[in-house]
Amino acid sequence: MSDISEDLRLPVACPSCGSHLYRVSQVRNPGDKVFCASCKRYLCPYHEAVDLLKEGPGSETEAMIEKVVNRNGQ
Ligand SMILES: [Zn+2]
Repeated sequence: MSDISEDLRLPVACPSCGSHLYRVSQVRNPGDKVFCASCKRYLCPYHEAVDLLKEGPGSETEAMIEKVVNRNGQ
């Protein structure tokens, strides 16, 4: 019952499969993990996803995603 998640559409594509659809816990705590809805790859904590939504697509967002991807070690 506590494991309900919601779809979340982000301006960035999943580094693994290119999907823009992600999943996050319905509670949406800042530290909740955001996963790709297709391949289940971990993207970033929810508070970073919120920042991405606020910023929208752009060079700053891409730089941030690169940072996230690099941090995930792939
Ligand atoms: Zn994916």
